Amino acid sequence: MQELTHYLNGAHVNGTSGRFADVMNPATGEVQAKVPLASKEEVARAVAYAVEAQPAWAAVNPQRRARVLMKFVDLLNRDMDKLAEALSREHGKTLPDAAGDVQRGLEVVEYCIGAPQLLKGEYTDSAGPGIDMYSMRQPLGVTAGITPFNFPAMIPMWMFAPAIACGNAFLLKPSERDPSVPLMLAELMEEAGLPKGVLQVVNGDKEAVDAILHDPVIQSIGFVGSTPIAEYIYGTGCAQGKRVQCFGGAKNHMIVMPDADMDQAADALVGAGYGAAGERCMAISVAVPVGDETADRLIEKLVPRIEKLKVGPYTAGNDIDYGPVVTGAAKANIERLVQSGIDQGAKLVVDGRDFSLQGYEEGFFVGPHLFDHVTKDMEIYTTEIFGPVLSTVRAQSYEEALGLAMDHEYGNGTAIFTRDGDAARDFANRVNVGMIGINVPIPVPLAYHTFGGWKKSVFGDLNQHGPDAFKFYTRTKTVTSRWPSGIKEGGEFSIPVME
Ligand code: NAD
Repeated sequence: MQELTHYLNGAHVNGTSGRFADVMNPATGEVQAKVPLASKEEVARAVAYAVEAQPAWAAVNPQRRARVLMKFVDLLNRDMDKLAEALSREHGKTLPDAAGDVQRGLEVVEYCIGAPQLLKGEYTDSAGPGIDMYSMRQPLGVTAGITPFNFPAMIPMWMFAPAIACGNAFLLKPSERDPSVPLMLAELMEEAGLPKGVLQVVNGDKEAVDAILHDPVIQSIGFVGSTPIAEYIYGTGCAQGKRVQCFGGAKNHMIVMPDADMDQAADALVGAGYGAAGERCMAISVAVPVGDETADRLIEKLVPRIEKLKVGPYTAGNDIDYGPVVTGAAKANIERLVQSGIDQGAKLVVDGRDFSLQGYEEGFFVGPHLFDHVTKDMEIYTTEIFGPVLSTVRAQSYEEALGLAMDHEYGNGTAIFTRDGDAARDFANRVNVGMIGINVPIPVPLAYHTFGGWKKSVFGDLNQHGPDAFKFYTRTKTVTSRWPSGIKEGGEFSIPVME
């Protein structure tokens, strides 16, 4: 049995707490490794290394810091296949999807190579008589991030790339479900030239998270995960005086207007609803066709597409559409929610309950499900299922469809499919959701824009990546300066001559 490590001060270090979690192979249901769960003392040790390393790193000029990130991009490309394989093995997603996970993180690193430009301050010449005023952005010091299982490459890079580009040290507490890729990323950053102690990985669970929350040296915490934990971390971290940004769960609606291209809408829904087994915070989990006729046409297009989906292990090749869900507990929760949908009166149009894969009977595979006639009060509508289950809620008008997205407690992403520019524009303007797609099903902004939802999908005010990240990982200092008159008034500027 492989025993994973922490990555502290430039070295793999065995856990000393005596506590471990199982890392599963979701395709086979077997335990493939044990990950150490850090104690409070182990977190304190990592913080002490970070404190030692950070001032020298902050003193490296931004251009040289950016060069480490440039080299890191090369190394990510060199090791792309290796990273994708390790990611698929622990997470279960297909190899092309795993490479996409690395690639979307890599693009944030590329953006952060612009640190010299992004960190430039502001300057006012002659703000008053003889007075100049300027502001600079300085690193916070030791920062930390707590990340979820579903993007074990991209989300750590969302956080540590800007934090480190700004001159901070960063302590990563990745998900205990798939910790191998985060450990590999830390190694690659050091191979790229990052001094030891600037990026460390502390594996763990609530105990490590609580140690981070209560450590007086850690200045900021970034969190991505489920909403109840996001709320807990935001509340506790803020009460400790830290800068905190927390990103939570989602229930993303896709409105399908009667004039939409129904084939395009159905293709989009299948990819966005079932890709990565629905384990994406930007997955579409609710389809909202407007009008019964639109709903009937949409369902007719969806059913054959869903029935054709290929579900299997990542090792079965690149034509697999999605893999297993992450754990047996996740699978059981999805099955329970599907049953609740049936019990509460939704119509199960595609039933994936009997799904089984020969040779992988113990794996955490869930067949695709499609519900029709879902209503607002059902648990499958109110709860984030995080599985391959798409719910259809029929709306009778555009206003009703918009109201559904507006009234839901989550507000991460949403999309509208239509040929009518006026409807699309009105939707984008009025809906209280953070990321909007117009004929685009998963509107994940690129690295140079920012990523973030509204309502219960976010706690805090600055988004991930883009310019916001450089604000989150720095403090502004503003200097007002006036110099006493000096040599220029007291000095003699004409050529001295004998009187
Ligand atoms: P999770 O909340 O279970 O875990 C996230 C992190 O919190 C992990 O590192 C975990 O170890 C830690 N954690 C878990 N329980 C804890 C506790 N009681 N106290 C302290 N720390 C704890 O989330 P997950 O299952 O890993 O990820 C899936 C969730 O993440 C979904 O809800 C999904 O929507 C959300 N997500 C959101 C975004 C976004 O940007 N909004 C992106 C990706 C995932």
